[in-house]
Amino acid sequence: MKLETFSFDIDGDGIAHAVFDVPRRSMNTLTGKAVADIIAITKEVAENDKITGLVISSGKPSGFCAGADLGEMGQAAGGKPAAKMSEAERKQAQFDRGFSLNKTLRELETCGKPIAVALNGLALGGGLEVALAGHYRVAANDNPKLQFGLPEAKIGLLPGAGGTQRLPRLIGVQAALPLILQGKSFRAEEALGMGVVNELAPSSDTVQKCKDWVKANPNAKAPWDEKGFKMPGGVVHRSPGAGQVATMSNAMLHAKTYGNYPAQKNILSCVYEGSQLPIDAALRVETRYFINTQARPEAKAMIRSLFLSTQALSKGASRPAGFDKYQLNKVAVIGAGLMGAGIAYEQARAGIETVLVDISMENAEKGKDYSRKLVEKAVKRGKLTENKGEALLARITPSDNYDDFKGADLVVEAVFENPELKAKITNMAEAQLSDMAVMGSNTSTLPITGLAEASVRPENFIGIHFFSPVERMGLVEIIMGDKTTQGTLAKAIDYVLKIRKTPIVVNDFRGFYTSRCFGTYTQEGMQMLADGIKPAIIENVGRQSGMPMGPLEVSDSVGLDTALKIGRQMAQAAGIDYTGNEIGQMMAWLVEDEGRVGRKAGKGFYDYDEKNKPKRLWPDLNKKIDVTVDECPPEMKKELTNRFLVRQAIEVSRCFEEGVITDARDADIGSILAWGFAPYTGGCASYVDLIWGIKEFVAEADRLAEKYGERFKPGKMLRDMAAKGEGFYDRFPPAGSAVKAAA
Ligand code: NAD
Repeated sequence: MKLETFSFDIDGDGIAHAVFDVPRRSMNTLTGKAVADIIAITKEVAENDKITGLVISSGKPSGFCAGADLGEMGQAAGGKPAAKMSEAERKQAQFDRGFSLNKTLRELETCGKPIAVALNGLALGGGLEVALAGHYRVAANDNPKLQFGLPEAKIGLLPGAGGTQRLPRLIGVQAALPLILQGKSFRAEEALGMGVVNELAPSSDTVQKCKDWVKANPNAKAPWDEKGFKMPGGVVHRSPGAGQVATMSNAMLHAKTYGNYPAQKNILSCVYEGSQLPIDAALRVETRYFINTQARPEAKAMIRSLFLSTQALSKGASRPAGFDKYQLNKVAVIGAGLMGAGIAYEQARAGIETVLVDISMENAEKGKDYSRKLVEKAVKRGKLTENKGEALLARITPSDNYDDFKGADLVVEAVFENPELKAKITNMAEAQLSDMAVMGSNTSTLPITGLAEASVRPENFIGIHFFSPVERMGLVEIIMGDKTTQGTLAKAIDYVLKIRKTPIVVNDFRGFYTSRCFGTYTQEGMQMLADGIKPAIIENVGRQSGMPMGPLEVSDSVGLDTALKIGRQMAQAAGIDYTGNEIGQMMAWLVEDEGRVGRKAGKGFYDYDEKNKPKRLWPDLNKKIDVTVDECPPEMKKELTNRFLVRQAIEVSRCFEEGVITDARDADIGSILAWGFAPYTGGCASYVDLIWGIKEFVAEADRLAEKYGERFKPGKMLRDMAAKGEGFYDRFPPAGSAVKAAA
């Protein structure tokens, strides 16, 4: 037997030992070759009379298996069916492909010989499904990184190698459903408690424990192959408890996802139907749902963005080549306010010596207090030891002295949003810095090229735009000024990677990429208000379209005073009369007449009650707007959803056209991580490419433009793309900084 991803031997007791070890990888995944090897091993174990049982383990110290190979899966998803196949033949071939591993694992489970699996570390997705097909599982109790789970739903997929059927049969529908629907992972002790594994042992003993068990249990069977097997907690349609779980899960799922995620819907159906069938039929049902899920554009979009692109960008895919890794021993943060305090914490957490400077020692200490509170909380929750917490805090030196910047490799300026103040800070900071050091600004709105005019080394000047709250937001938008060099970009990316965030790289423009596009969501919400649509409908459809909050609630969080100021600035820049504009009038009324400046004041579009009552839309809002639409039938919901999402995607297309962004991955990941653009779409670019298709998107944008105005009008570039059938990933493929430099 020739295997590429497993080693295989048989000991003196006839116990076969298959060691999973995909060459040249630090972690095993179920590549096509690995699946072929599992098929060969199964055949050998079943047919070789000398084999009395099988132990499967991993050759990787890091764990057992991370699941399906999503890189391969992403490529295969675009595959074309072979020519000359009838529809029935094509469907059968598709089913056979999807069923292949499922069928093999079932054959292994029923081959009549005991199968045990040693889990030295992580087993996720397909990795856990392989383990579940064994009769006995021993997990390591000394690997803090060990985690188990079926995370497929998180990237739009469904566990398709028996997970949706074996896990409920092992631990009951009630316990299994949330794990599969939410893709939550769990640790070894929890796995033992639930009955997902049978025994815990030190990593070095897990294989021997499995061998001992195989030897002692020659007639092992899966519980569901024993006569009289009963599903723990009962079968869904017959047991009141399990039935209630299914009904509740359905309702809860809809309340959370609004039916936007086909994987979750299919998982529910799959568990519900499968749990009422014998296992063999149930596995075939699972494969049907798996194929349906995998074929959905949402799955392709989510795998590409939420897994492949996120992974690539967080490993530095946009970093220009040819520059040595930048050593960041000391980084100064200027301005210890909301942002500076969070940035200092993230730096110290990543092991960087941090100087946190403000105008007074009191302010600087207040900024450090933010870290003190976060450390205290982490220690209380057992997420950080006291020693590590103290070490983290010791890395932050609060200061009111600009001389303390001396020797800093990078500076992040986070003072008030005032160009004159920022210019002064740049001068003072640069006086202390070497020619090599990077001067970064966390400005959210001021063009970087303009700020760099104050710099004596504009080539070292760059925008490093964090999001609030810094410790929870994974994205950093890096902004290139006109004179910023590729070497500075490389250093800034090294910094962002060191503090374990995901960088996207954009070119300079007012609002950059994220603030500019995000603003269109709230603007469309306000336009709907001005159109006479009932506020509750606007908010509900906003959330139902997949956005994390309704547009009016988001505006309240940003601050209606800020929104009014930005609106006036933008109108002035565009030569529009904001005072004569219905949105401008409404905002001025809210902010200047009614003092409703948003959440910070406890009143904006919503009333926020101090006594912790749930927030509610301000009833008097209806006084200013003449509500003409107070019902939302499905076609209206669809129309408003498209207004929200198409409007944002059109702005993203303008950013591409104007060279603000140059890589489709930046557009997608930026849109999801910065402002929560409906994740099931894979982000703004994938929404156009995969959910609509370029031609259909342009047609819909044209229709909306005709009905609602120029803001929806596709630009020349989009029309050209539609004519050529090119999506954003065709025209702006992952290309790294070579394209950025040319942009
Ligand atoms: P903030 O008002 O909370 O903090 C600003 C801090 O700068 C204050 O502590 C102030 O004392 C200090 N400061 C002022 N002058 C100084 C000086 N001469 N030397 C040293 N420190 C000085 O503001 P913030 O919300 O943290 O915003 C800071 C920057 O980050 C702004 O440019 C803002 O646009 C940007 N930003 C803010 C957010 C956000 O959500 N708040 C998000 C992204 C970017």
